[in-house]
Amino acid sequence: MLRTGNDYRQGLRDGREIWMDGERVKDVTTHKAFKPVVDVRARMYDMAHEARHADTMSYLDGNVRNSILLKRPVEQKDWWDKWHAVDAVMKDIGGVVTRVGDETVGEMWSLYDGRDVLNEIDPRFADNINNHIQAVLEKDIFHVSANTDPKGDRSKRPQDQDPDMMVHVVKETDKGIIIRGAKYETASAYADQAFLKPTVGAWTDEKLSDYAVGCIVKMGAPGVKHICRSGFVGRGTPEDYPLAHKFDEVDTLMVLDNVLIPWEDVFFHRYTKAAQYIRSSLHRYSAFPYVLRLLYVADMMIGAALWNCKQIGLDKMQAVRDKLADLVCYREGINAHLSASIALAEKSPGGLLMPNQSLLYAGRIHACANLPQVMHIARELCGGQICVTPNAAAFTSEGTKKWLEKFYSLNDNWQAEDRRKLLAFARDLLNSDYAGHRLTFVQFAQAPHFNHLNALYNSFDFSGPLDFVKRAANLSDRIDGKAK
Ligand SMILES: Cc1cc2nc3c(=O)[nH]c(=O)nc-3n(C[C@H](O)[C@H](O)[C@H](O)COP(=O)(O)OP(=O)(O)OC[C@H]3O[C@@H](n4cnc5c(N)ncnc54)[C@H](O)[C@@H]3O)c2cc1C
Repeated sequence: MLRTGNDYRQGLRDGREIWMDGERVKDVTTHKAFKPVVDVRARMYDMAHEARHADTMSYLDGNVRNSILLKRPVEQKDWWDKWHAVDAVMKDIGGVVTRVGDETVGEMWSLYDGRDVLNEIDPRFADNINNHIQAVLEKDIFHVSANTDPKGDRSKRPQDQDPDMMVHVVKETDKGIIIRGAKYETASAYADQAFLKPTVGAWTDEKLSDYAVGCIVKMGAPGVKHICRSGFVGRGTPEDYPLAHKFDEVDTLMVLDNVLIPWEDVFFHRYTKAAQYIRSSLHRYSAFPYVLRLLYVADMMIGAALWNCKQIGLDKMQAVRDKLADLVCYREGINAHLSASIALAEKSPGGLLMPNQSLLYAGRIHACANLPQVMHIARELCGGQICVTPNAAAFTSEGTKKWLEKFYSLNDNWQAEDRRKLLAFARDLLNSDYAGHRLTFVQFAQAPHFNHLNALYNSFDFSGPLDFVKRAANLSDRIDGKAK
Protein backbone atom coordinates (compact mmCIF):
# COMPACT_ATOMS: atom_id res chain seq x y z
CA MET A 1 0.00 0.00 0.00
CA LEU A 2 1.14 3.57 -0.62
CA ARG A 3 0.43 6.26 1.92
CA THR A 4 0.02 9.91 0.95
CA GLY A 5 1.97 12.75 2.52
CA ASN A 6 -1.07 13.68 4.54
CA ASP A 7 -1.55 10.10 5.80
CA TYR A 8 2.04 10.29 7.05
CA ARG A 9 1.48 13.67 8.73
CA GLN A 10 -1.70 12.39 10.34
CA GLY A 11 0.20 9.39 11.74
CA LEU A 12 2.65 11.73 13.47
CA ARG A 13 -0.19 13.39 15.41
CA ASP A 14 -0.32 10.56 17.95
CA GLY A 15 0.42 12.57 21.08
CA ARG A 16 4.14 11.75 20.97
CA GLU A 17 6.39 13.50 23.47
CA ILE A 18 8.91 15.72 21.68
CA TRP A 19 11.12 18.36 23.24
CA MET A 20 13.36 20.97 21.67
CA ASP A 21 15.24 23.81 23.38
CA GLY A 22 13.49 23.03 26.66
CA GLU A 23 9.98 23.28 25.19
CA ARG A 24 7.40 20.63 24.35
CA VAL A 25 6.67 20.45 20.61
CA LYS A 26 2.89 20.53 20.16
CA ASP A 27 2.67 19.42 16.53
CA VAL A 28 5.80 18.11 14.82
CA THR A 29 4.23 18.60 11.39
CA THR A 30 3.92 22.37 11.82
CA HIS A 31 6.78 23.20 14.24
CA LYS A 32 9.32 25.53 12.60
CA ALA A 33 12.30 23.19 13.03
CA PHE A 34 10.57 20.05 11.81
CA LYS A 35 8.12 21.23 9.15
CA PRO A 36 10.62 21.45 6.26
CA VAL A 37 11.93 17.89 6.73
CA VAL A 38 8.44 16.49 7.42
CA ASP A 39 7.37 18.16 4.16
CA VAL A 40 10.28 16.52 2.31
CA ARG A 41 9.27 13.10 3.67
CA ALA A 42 5.61 13.81 2.82
CA ARG A 43 6.68 14.84 -0.67
CA MET A 44 8.33 11.42 -1.11
CA TYR A 45 5.03 9.76 -0.23
CA ASP A 46 3.12 12.01 -2.64
CA MET A 47 5.58 11.47 -5.49
CA ALA A 48 4.64 7.78 -5.58
CA HIS A 49 1.04 8.79 -6.41
CA GLU A 50 1.94 11.17 -9.25
CA ALA A 51 1.69 9.79 -12.79
CA ARG A 52 5.17 11.00 -13.78
CA HIS A 53 6.86 9.37 -10.75
CA ALA A 54 4.60 6.39 -10.02
CA ASP A 55 6.61 3.81 -11.97
CA THR A 56 9.90 5.05 -10.54
CA MET A 57 8.74 5.15 -6.93
CA SER A 58 6.44 2.14 -6.75
CA TYR A 59 5.83 -1.36 -8.13
CA LEU A 60 2.85 -3.62 -8.51
CA ASP A 61 2.69 -6.45 -5.97
CA GLY A 62 -0.37 -8.47 -7.04
CA ASN A 63 -3.09 -5.83 -7.20
CA VAL A 64 -1.42 -3.47 -4.78
CA ARG A 65 1.21 -0.82 -5.39
CA ASN A 66 4.04 -0.73 -2.88
CA SER A 67 7.15 1.42 -2.44
CA ILE A 68 10.20 0.41 -4.47
CA LEU A 69 12.39 1.80 -1.70
CA LEU A 70 10.95 -0.69 0.80
CA LYS A 71 10.96 -3.72 -1.52
CA ARG A 72 13.08 -6.70 -0.48
CA PRO A 73 15.89 -6.96 -3.08
CA VAL A 74 16.02 -10.29 -4.90
CA GLU A 75 17.56 -9.39 -8.26
CA GLN A 76 19.95 -6.76 -9.64
CA LYS A 77 17.05 -4.79 -11.14
CA ASP A 78 15.74 -4.15 -7.63
CA TRP A 79 18.94 -2.27 -6.76
CA TRP A 80 18.90 -0.21 -9.97
CA ASP A 81 15.22 0.56 -9.34
CA LYS A 82 16.04 1.77 -5.83
CA TRP A 83 18.85 3.93 -7.22
CA HIS A 84 16.47 5.47 -9.79
CA ALA A 85 13.88 6.20 -7.10
CA VAL A 86 16.47 7.92 -4.88
CA ASP A 87 17.64 9.86 -7.94
CA ALA A 88 14.08 11.06 -8.62
CA VAL A 89 13.68 12.17 -4.99
CA MET A 90 16.99 14.06 -4.78
CA LYS A 91 16.28 15.87 -8.04
CA ASP A 92 12.73 16.71 -7.01
CA ILE A 93 13.65 18.14 -3.61
CA GLY A 94 16.84 19.80 -4.88
CA GLY A 95 19.12 18.55 -2.12
CA VAL A 96 20.10 15.56 -0.03
CA VAL A 97 18.29 13.80 2.80
CA THR A 98 19.51 10.47 4.12
CA ARG A 99 17.41 9.20 6.98
CA VAL A 100 14.06 9.03 5.26
CA GLY A 101 13.37 5.30 5.57
CA ASP A 102 14.93 3.50 2.62
CA GLU A 103 18.37 3.72 4.21
CA THR A 104 17.26 2.11 7.48
CA VAL A 105 14.76 -0.52 6.31
CA GLY A 106 17.66 -2.70 5.11
CA GLU A 107 18.62 -3.41 8.73
CA MET A 108 15.43 -5.48 8.94
CA TRP A 109 16.44 -7.47 5.86
CA SER A 110 19.71 -8.32 7.64
CA LEU A 111 17.67 -9.71 10.48
CA TYR A 112 15.49 -11.61 7.99
CA ASP A 113 18.69 -13.24 6.67
CA GLY A 114 19.49 -14.36 10.18
CA ARG A 115 16.10 -15.78 11.10
CA ASP A 116 17.36 -19.39 11.01
CA VAL A 117 20.19 -18.48 13.36
CA LEU A 118 17.79 -16.62 15.62
CA ASN A 119 15.26 -19.45 15.56
CA GLU A 120 17.87 -21.90 16.74
CA ILE A 121 18.62 -19.65 19.68
CA ASP A 122 15.07 -18.78 20.63
CA PRO A 123 12.17 -19.84 18.33
CA ARG A 124 9.55 -17.75 20.11
CA PHE A 125 10.05 -14.77 17.83
CA ALA A 126 10.37 -16.57 14.49
CA ASP A 127 7.37 -15.02 12.79
CA ASN A 128 7.89 -11.52 14.09
CA ILE A 129 10.66 -10.68 11.61
CA ASN A 130 8.67 -11.77 8.56
CA ASN A 131 5.56 -10.03 9.83
CA HIS A 132 7.37 -6.75 10.36
CA ILE A 133 9.08 -6.77 6.99
CA GLN A 134 5.68 -7.37 5.39
CA ALA A 135 4.03 -4.70 7.57
CA VAL A 136 6.58 -2.08 6.53
CA LEU A 137 5.59 -2.72 2.90
CA GLU A 138 1.86 -3.01 3.48
CA LYS A 139 1.61 0.06 5.69
CA ASP A 140 4.36 2.12 3.99
CA ILE A 141 6.04 2.73 7.33
CA PHE A 142 8.82 5.28 7.89
CA HIS A 143 11.37 3.26 9.75
CA VAL A 144 14.48 4.58 11.57
CA SER A 145 17.41 3.04 13.39
CA ALA A 146 18.14 2.90 17.11
CA ASN A 147 21.67 1.58 17.67
CA THR A 148 23.68 3.93 19.80
CA ASP A 149 23.24 4.16 23.56
CA PRO A 150 24.78 6.95 25.66
CA LYS A 151 26.96 4.11 27.08
CA GLY A 152 28.52 6.12 29.94
CA ASP A 153 31.92 5.05 31.30
CA ARG A 154 33.17 2.38 28.92
CA SER A 155 35.71 1.04 31.42
CA LYS A 156 32.81 -0.15 33.60
CA ARG A 157 30.38 -2.98 33.00
CA PRO A 158 26.77 -1.80 32.47
CA GLN A 159 25.72 -3.29 35.81
CA ASP A 160 28.46 -1.29 37.61
CA GLN A 161 27.09 2.10 36.58
CA ASP A 162 23.63 3.58 36.01
CA PRO A 163 22.12 0.57 34.20
CA ASP A 164 20.11 2.85 31.90
CA MET A 165 23.32 3.93 30.10
CA MET A 166 22.52 1.00 27.78
CA VAL A 167 19.01 -0.08 26.82
CA HIS A 168 17.97 -3.15 28.77
CA VAL A 169 14.95 -5.22 29.70
CA VAL A 170 13.69 -4.56 33.21
CA LYS A 171 10.66 -6.85 33.25
CA GLU A 172 8.69 -9.43 31.31
CA THR A 173 4.88 -9.28 31.45
CA ASP A 174 2.03 -11.14 29.75
CA LYS A 175 1.88 -8.37 27.20
CA GLY A 176 5.57 -8.07 26.43
CA ILE A 177 8.88 -6.75 27.72
CA ILE A 178 9.50 -3.46 29.52
CA ILE A 179 12.67 -1.64 28.42
CA ARG A 180 14.64 1.30 29.84
CA GLY A 181 17.53 3.39 28.55
CA ALA A 182 18.11 5.78 25.66
CA LYS A 183 19.31 5.88 22.05
CA TYR A 184 20.67 8.59 19.78
CA GLU A 185 18.55 8.64 16.69
CA THR A 186 18.20 10.86 13.66
CA ALA A 187 14.60 11.53 12.58
CA SER A 188 12.94 9.58 15.40
CA ALA A 189 10.69 12.54 16.29
CA TYR A 190 9.03 12.45 12.86
CA ALA A 191 9.26 8.73 12.02
CA ASP A 192 6.76 5.95 12.69
CA GLN A 193 8.93 3.34 14.35
CA ALA A 194 12.52 2.26 15.00
CA PHE A 195 14.37 -1.03 14.87
CA LEU A 196 16.21 -1.07 18.20
CA LYS A 197 19.23 -3.32 18.83
CA PRO A 198 22.22 -3.19 21.17
CA THR A 199 25.41 -1.24 20.63
CA VAL A 200 28.39 -3.59 20.18
CA GLY A 201 27.99 -6.05 23.03
CA ALA A 202 29.51 -5.08 26.33
CA TRP A 203 29.36 -8.73 27.38
CA THR A 204 32.31 -11.10 27.18
CA ASP A 205 31.41 -14.73 27.83
CA GLU A 206 27.87 -14.19 29.11
CA LYS A 207 25.32 -16.29 27.27
CA LEU A 208 22.34 -14.32 28.54
CA SER A 209 22.06 -10.61 29.21
CA ASP A 210 19.23 -8.17 29.78
CA TYR A 211 21.10 -5.85 27.42
CA ALA A 212 20.77 -8.21 24.46
CA VAL A 213 17.44 -7.00 23.10
CA GLY A 214 16.19 -6.36 19.56
CA CYS A 215 12.70 -5.01 18.91
CA ILE A 216 10.45 -2.50 17.21
CA VAL A 217 9.72 0.68 19.16
CA LYS A 218 6.75 2.81 18.14
CA MET A 219 7.75 6.46 18.23
CA GLY A 220 4.56 7.57 19.92
CA ALA A 221 4.44 4.80 22.55
CA PRO A 222 3.94 5.79 26.21
CA GLY A 223 7.33 6.36 27.89
CA VAL A 224 9.14 7.30 24.65
CA LYS A 225 10.52 10.86 24.94
CA HIS A 226 12.30 12.59 22.06
CA ILE A 227 14.75 15.18 23.37
CA CYS A 228 16.02 16.86 20.20
CA ARG A 229 19.05 18.98 19.51
CA SER A 230 18.40 22.56 18.37
CA GLY A 231 17.22 22.90 14.79
CA PHE A 232 19.12 24.79 12.09
CA VAL A 233 15.93 26.26 10.64
CA GLY A 234 15.55 29.92 11.58
CA ARG A 235 19.15 30.52 12.71
CA GLY A 236 19.61 32.66 9.58
CA THR A 237 17.30 33.40 6.67
CA PRO A 238 16.44 30.83 3.97
CA GLU A 239 18.10 33.16 1.43
CA ASP A 240 21.39 32.97 3.34
CA TYR A 241 21.20 29.29 4.41
CA PRO A 242 19.15 27.57 1.70
CA LEU A 243 20.15 23.97 2.57
CA ALA A 244 19.84 24.18 6.35
CA HIS A 245 16.33 25.58 5.92
CA LYS A 246 15.08 22.72 3.81
CA PHE A 247 17.02 19.62 4.79
CA ASP A 248 17.81 19.65 8.50
CA GLU A 249 17.32 16.04 9.64
CA VAL A 250 16.86 16.61 13.35
CA ASP A 251 18.71 14.23 15.71
CA THR A 252 17.31 13.11 19.03
CA LEU A 253 18.20 11.54 22.32
CA MET A 254 15.29 9.11 22.48
CA VAL A 255 14.65 8.24 26.12
CA LEU A 256 12.87 4.98 26.92
CA ASP A 257 11.27 5.28 30.31
CA ASN A 258 9.74 1.87 31.06
CA VAL A 259 8.39 1.33 27.56
CA LEU A 260 6.22 -1.72 26.93
CA ILE A 261 7.25 -3.62 23.79
CA PRO A 262 4.44 -6.08 22.90
CA TRP A 263 5.64 -9.64 22.27
CA GLU A 264 4.83 -9.39 18.56
CA ASP A 265 7.40 -6.57 18.27
CA VAL A 266 10.24 -8.49 19.95
CA PHE A 267 12.92 -10.04 17.67
CA PHE A 268 15.32 -11.37 20.25
CA HIS A 269 15.67 -11.09 23.95
CA ARG A 270 18.45 -12.03 26.39
CA TYR A 271 20.60 -14.14 24.01
CA THR A 272 23.94 -12.40 23.44
CA LYS A 273 24.62 -14.64 20.43
CA ALA A 274 21.56 -13.17 18.67
CA ALA A 275 22.69 -9.65 19.47
CA GLN A 276 26.16 -10.38 18.14
CA TYR A 277 24.72 -11.84 14.94
CA ILE A 278 22.74 -8.72 14.08
CA ARG A 279 25.66 -6.43 14.86
CA SER A 280 27.90 -8.32 12.46
CA SER A 281 25.47 -8.11 9.52
CA LEU A 282 23.63 -4.89 10.26
CA HIS A 283 24.65 -2.73 7.27
CA ARG A 284 24.91 -5.36 4.55
CA TYR A 285 22.04 -3.66 2.70
CA SER A 286 21.72 -0.26 4.32
CA ALA A 287 25.30 0.82 3.50
CA PHE A 288 24.15 1.08 -0.13
CA PRO A 289 21.60 3.90 0.21
CA TYR A 290 23.85 5.61 2.77
CA VAL A 291 26.77 5.77 0.33
CA LEU A 292 24.46 6.65 -2.57
CA ARG A 293 23.55 9.93 -0.83
CA LEU A 294 27.22 10.95 -1.01
CA LEU A 295 27.09 10.75 -4.81
CA TYR A 296 24.60 13.63 -4.67
CA VAL A 297 26.70 15.52 -2.13
CA ALA A 298 29.62 15.14 -4.57
CA ASP A 299 27.46 16.49 -7.41
CA MET A 300 26.54 19.50 -5.30
CA MET A 301 30.23 20.17 -4.62
CA ILE A 302 31.23 19.76 -8.28
CA GLY A 303 28.33 21.94 -9.46
CA ALA A 304 28.98 24.71 -6.94
CA ALA A 305 32.73 24.71 -7.61
CA LEU A 306 32.45 24.67 -11.40
CA TRP A 307 29.76 27.35 -11.55
CA ASN A 308 31.95 29.53 -9.37
CA CYS A 309 34.99 28.98 -11.59
CA LYS A 310 32.92 29.73 -14.69
CA GLN A 311 31.57 32.93 -13.11
CA ILE A 312 34.97 34.29 -12.30
CA GLY A 313 36.61 33.05 -15.49
CA LEU A 314 39.00 30.52 -13.97
CA ASP A 315 37.56 27.34 -15.46
CA LYS A 316 40.11 27.27 -18.31
CA MET A 317 43.12 27.17 -15.94
CA GLN A 318 44.81 23.78 -15.78
CA ALA A 319 45.41 23.99 -12.02
CA VAL A 320 41.67 24.59 -11.50
CA ARG A 321 40.78 21.71 -13.82
CA ASP A 322 43.11 19.45 -11.82
CA LYS A 323 41.15 20.22 -8.66
CA LEU A 324 37.84 19.66 -10.43
CA ALA A 325 39.20 16.32 -11.62
CA ASP A 326 39.98 15.44 -7.97
CA LEU A 327 36.33 16.09 -7.13
CA VAL A 328 35.20 14.00 -10.09
CA CYS A 329 37.51 11.18 -9.00
CA TYR A 330 35.79 11.14 -5.60
CA ARG A 331 32.36 11.17 -7.26
CA GLU A 332 33.17 8.48 -9.77
CA GLY A 333 34.81 6.38 -7.06
CA ILE A 334 31.43 6.25 -5.32
CA ASN A 335 29.65 5.59 -8.60
CA ALA A 336 32.06 2.75 -9.43
CA HIS A 337 31.81 1.06 -6.04
CA LEU A 338 28.02 1.16 -6.05
CA SER A 339 27.64 0.07 -9.69
CA ALA A 340 30.11 -2.79 -9.22
CA SER A 341 28.44 -3.85 -5.98
CA ILE A 342 25.22 -4.37 -7.97
CA ALA A 343 26.96 -6.02 -10.96
CA LEU A 344 28.73 -8.46 -8.61
CA ALA A 345 25.90 -8.76 -6.10
CA GLU A 346 25.74 -11.85 -3.86
CA LYS A 347 22.94 -14.10 -2.67
CA SER A 348 22.33 -13.64 1.02
CA PRO A 349 21.87 -16.53 3.49
CA GLY A 350 18.13 -15.74 3.46
CA GLY A 351 17.84 -15.76 -0.36
CA LEU A 352 17.87 -11.99 -0.90
CA LEU A 353 20.37 -10.18 -3.14
CA MET A 354 23.06 -8.28 -1.23
CA PRO A 355 25.26 -5.71 -2.96
CA ASN A 356 28.77 -7.19 -3.22
CA GLN A 357 29.85 -6.79 0.39
CA SER A 358 33.55 -6.13 0.01
CA LEU A 359 32.98 -3.54 -2.75
CA LEU A 360 30.13 -1.88 -0.87
CA TYR A 361 32.06 -1.56 2.39
CA ALA A 362 35.19 -0.35 0.56
CA GLY A 363 32.94 2.23 -1.17
CA ARG A 364 31.59 3.37 2.20
CA ILE A 365 35.12 4.00 3.45
CA HIS A 366 36.06 5.82 0.21
CA ALA A 367 32.96 8.01 0.42
CA CYS A 368 33.03 8.80 4.15
CA ALA A 369 36.74 8.98 4.97
CA ASN A 370 37.61 11.19 1.97
CA LEU A 371 34.74 13.62 2.43
CA PRO A 372 36.62 16.15 4.62
CA GLN A 373 39.41 16.36 2.05
CA VAL A 374 37.11 16.76 -0.97
CA MET A 375 35.02 19.34 0.87
CA HIS A 376 38.20 21.34 1.25
CA ILE A 377 39.02 21.03 -2.46
CA ALA A 378 35.51 22.33 -3.26
CA ARG A 379 36.03 25.12 -0.71
CA GLU A 380 39.32 26.08 -2.35
CA LEU A 381 37.63 26.24 -5.75
CA CYS A 382 34.81 28.40 -4.40
CA GLY A 383 37.29 30.71 -2.68
CA GLY A 384 37.16 32.77 0.49
CA GLN A 385 34.16 34.79 -0.71
CA ILE A 386 31.85 32.07 0.58
CA CYS A 387 32.65 33.16 4.12
CA VAL A 388 32.99 36.93 3.74
CA THR A 389 29.98 37.76 1.57
CA PRO A 390 27.31 39.89 3.32
CA ASN A 391 23.87 38.42 3.79
CA ALA A 392 20.87 38.79 1.47
CA ALA A 393 19.43 41.75 3.38
CA ALA A 394 22.55 43.78 2.57
CA PHE A 395 21.92 43.21 -1.14
CA THR A 396 18.53 44.94 -0.91
CA SER A 397 19.21 47.63 1.70
CA GLU A 398 19.31 51.15 0.28
CA GLY A 399 22.55 51.91 2.14
CA THR A 400 24.56 49.00 0.72
CA LYS A 401 22.74 47.74 -2.36
CA LYS A 402 24.59 49.79 -4.99
CA TRP A 403 28.00 48.73 -3.64
CA LEU A 404 27.15 45.06 -3.55
CA GLU A 405 25.65 45.20 -7.03
CA LYS A 406 28.84 46.85 -8.22
CA PHE A 407 31.23 44.31 -6.67
CA TYR A 408 29.15 41.16 -7.17
CA SER A 409 28.08 41.74 -10.81
CA LEU A 410 30.70 40.08 -12.96
CA ASN A 411 29.45 40.38 -16.53
CA ASP A 412 26.23 40.44 -18.55
CA ASN A 413 25.37 36.86 -17.60
CA TRP A 414 26.35 36.89 -13.97
CA GLN A 415 24.60 39.62 -12.05
CA ALA A 416 24.92 40.22 -8.31
CA GLU A 417 21.82 38.22 -7.28
CA ASP A 418 22.95 35.00 -8.96
CA ARG A 419 26.45 35.39 -7.56
CA ARG A 420 25.06 35.95 -4.06
CA LYS A 421 22.80 32.90 -4.37
CA LEU A 422 25.64 30.65 -5.51
CA LEU A 423 27.94 31.84 -2.70
CA ALA A 424 25.17 31.32 -0.11
CA PHE A 425 24.55 27.80 -1.44
CA ALA A 426 28.28 26.97 -1.35
CA ARG A 427 28.59 28.40 2.17
CA ASP A 428 25.75 26.20 3.42
CA LEU A 429 27.23 23.18 1.66
CA LEU A 430 30.83 23.65 2.82
CA ASN A 431 31.22 26.21 5.56
CA SER A 432 28.16 26.78 7.71
CA ASP A 433 27.25 25.27 11.05
CA TYR A 434 24.88 23.01 9.09
CA ALA A 435 27.69 21.96 6.70
CA GLY A 436 29.82 20.94 9.70
CA HIS A 437 26.91 19.01 11.13
CA ARG A 438 26.36 17.10 7.89
CA LEU A 439 30.04 16.23 7.73
CA THR A 440 29.80 14.78 11.23
CA PHE A 441 26.60 12.97 10.28
CA VAL A 442 28.39 11.23 7.41
CA GLN A 443 31.27 10.17 9.68
CA PHE A 444 29.05 8.75 12.44
CA ALA A 445 25.36 8.36 11.70
CA GLN A 446 25.53 4.82 10.35
CA ALA A 447 28.63 3.80 12.30
CA PRO A 448 32.01 5.33 13.20
CA HIS A 449 35.14 4.87 11.06
CA PHE A 450 36.61 1.95 13.04
CA ASN A 451 33.36 0.10 12.51
CA HIS A 452 33.48 0.74 8.74
CA LEU A 453 36.99 -0.73 8.67
CA ASN A 454 35.89 -3.73 10.69
CA ALA A 455 33.01 -4.45 8.27
CA LEU A 456 35.40 -4.38 5.31
CA TYR A 457 37.95 -6.55 7.10
CA ASN A 458 35.28 -9.15 7.78
CA SER A 459 33.84 -9.18 4.25
CA PHE A 460 37.03 -9.16 2.18
CA ASP A 461 38.30 -12.56 1.03
CA PHE A 462 41.95 -12.54 2.10
CA SER A 463 42.63 -15.95 0.57
CA GLY A 464 43.32 -14.37 -2.85
CA PRO A 465 46.27 -12.18 -1.76
CA LEU A 466 47.56 -14.93 0.54
CA ASP A 467 47.61 -17.51 -2.28
CA PHE A 468 49.07 -15.02 -4.71
CA VAL A 469 52.03 -14.24 -2.46
CA LYS A 470 52.44 -17.87 -1.49
CA ARG A 471 52.93 -18.76 -5.17
CA ALA A 472 54.84 -15.62 -6.18
CA ALA A 473 57.33 -16.03 -3.32
CA ASN A 474 57.39 -19.78 -3.75
CA LEU A 475 56.50 -20.40 -0.10
CA SER A 476 56.16 -23.94 1.13
CA ASP A 477 52.91 -25.70 2.07
CA ARG A 478 54.07 -25.73 5.67
CA ILE A 479 53.00 -22.09 6.15
CA ASP A 480 49.29 -22.90 5.95
CA GLY A 481 49.53 -26.39 7.36
CA LYS A 482 48.97 -28.07 3.99
CA ALA A 483 52.32 -29.94 3.99
CA LYS A 484 51.85 -33.70 4.11
C1 LIG B 1 24.72 13.43 13.37
C2 LIG B 1 24.62 12.07 13.98
C3 LIG B 1 23.50 11.30 13.74
C4 LIG B 1 23.38 10.03 14.32
N1 LIG B 1 22.26 9.28 14.07
C5 LIG B 1 22.14 8.06 14.66
C6 LIG B 1 20.98 7.26 14.45
O1 LIG B 1 20.08 7.63 13.71
N2 LIG B 1 20.87 6.09 15.09
C7 LIG B 1 21.85 5.64 15.92
O2 LIG B 1 21.70 4.60 16.48
N3 LIG B 1 22.95 6.37 16.14
C8 LIG B 1 23.12 7.57 15.52
N4 LIG B 1 24.23 8.31 15.75
C9 LIG B 1 25.20 7.81 16.71
C10 LIG B 1 26.39 7.19 16.06
O3 LIG B 1 26.07 5.89 15.61
C11 LIG B 1 27.51 7.19 17.09
O4 LIG B 1 27.97 8.52 17.19
C12 LIG B 1 28.62 6.26 16.76
O5 LIG B 1 28.17 4.92 16.77
C13 LIG B 1 29.79 6.38 17.76
O6 LIG B 1 29.31 6.28 19.07
P1 LIG B 1 29.59 7.44 20.11
O7 LIG B 1 29.30 8.77 19.47
O8 LIG B 1 28.85 7.09 21.34
O9 LIG B 1 31.16 7.37 20.31
P2 LIG B 1 31.94 6.78 21.53
O10 LIG B 1 31.51 5.37 21.75
O11 LIG B 1 31.81 7.74 22.65
O12 LIG B 1 33.39 6.75 20.97
C14 LIG B 1 34.11 7.97 20.67
C15 LIG B 1 35.21 7.61 19.71
O13 LIG B 1 36.13 6.70 20.32
C16 LIG B 1 36.63 5.81 19.35
N5 LIG B 1 36.25 4.45 19.69
C17 LIG B 1 35.26 4.05 20.53
N6 LIG B 1 35.20 2.70 20.60
C18 LIG B 1 36.16 2.24 19.78
C19 LIG B 1 36.59 0.94 19.40
N7 LIG B 1 36.00 -0.17 19.89
N8 LIG B 1 37.60 0.83 18.51
C20 LIG B 1 38.19 1.94 17.98
N9 LIG B 1 37.83 3.20 18.32
C21 LIG B 1 36.83 3.36 19.20
C22 LIG B 1 36.01 6.21 18.02
O14 LIG B 1 36.84 7.11 17.33
C23 LIG B 1 34.74 6.89 18.46
O15 LIG B 1 34.25 7.74 17.46
C24 LIG B 1 24.40 9.56 15.17
C25 LIG B 1 25.53 10.33 15.40
C26 LIG B 1 25.66 11.56 14.80
C27 LIG B 1 26.89 12.37 15.07
